[in-house]
Amino acid sequence: MHPRATLIGVPWDRSSSYQRGAAEAPDAIRAALWSTSSNAWNEHRDDVSQADVLGDAGNLSLPEEPAAVRDAITNAVSALIAAGHRPLVLGGDHSITYPVLRAWQGQAPALTILHFDAHGDMYDEFEGDRYSHACPFARVMEEGLAARLIQVGVRALTDHLRAQAERFGVEVHGPGAWREALGTVRSAPGPVYISLDIDVLEPMLAPGISHPEPGGLTVREVLEVIAAVRAPVVGADVVEYNPRNDLRDLTARVAAKFVKELVGVMR
Ligand code: MN
Ligand code: MN
Repeated sequence: MHPRATLIGVPWDRSSSYQRGAAEAPDAIRAALWSTSSNAWNEHRDDVSQADVLGDAGNLSLPEEPAAVRDAITNAVSALIAAGHRPLVLGGDHSITYPVLRAWQGQAPALTILHFDAHGDMYDEFEGDRYSHACPFARVMEEGLAARLIQVGVRALTDHLRAQAERFGVEVHGPGAWREALGTVRSAPGPVYISLDIDVLEPMLAPGISHPEPGGLTVREVLEVIAAVRAPVVGADVVEYNPRNDLRDLTARVAAKFVKELVGVMR
């Protein structure tokens, strides 16, 4: 029997436009997850230390060249899906979500993506890089890798990003509208993929990130939106945790909490 979710770490931060460090996140999140300061149960009454609940496929060893990195990510996630696993990906910067989502290409019905972020991540290109961590959802929508993109917490939209959201029909819910998003999330059809950029949070609550954007959500508000998902969740990622900026592992604990509660909706 397969575990309900399987961790896979993607130690990649070279598509991050401002700071490195997210490549060190997967092992730091695991350390927080298994720290004896807490127990292994989530709020959905799962013991994530049980092998039939949460597996771990380890970290990818990545090549040097970015296009080869993207292929390696897609291939690894495709292999997990083909073997019957539901991948729970630990980033890494947010650029990894595009190659992860390529692994579901051609699936019918197409994915509904629930995307938590301070940022829209839909730049056509950023500082000359179409595969920057500021661009993944532009590539996802152009290539038809999602039927719907529901964004929650986005609060740093430029005119270009607003135009991109309109062009792709993205459903954008700002941080003041998370409660209004609950109904949309509850009625969203599956299969659902959840992409969780830690910087969706108020940065005071999550210092270990690369792009602090004040005015964000609380941990509890994000958990409320995650728990509203009714359709089957086939995969998820937790990205942009940057241990180099963290204080007393606080943000590692938050990332580990999100991992635990994501497992709770991956049924
Ligand atoms: Mn992001
Ligand atoms: Mn972000």
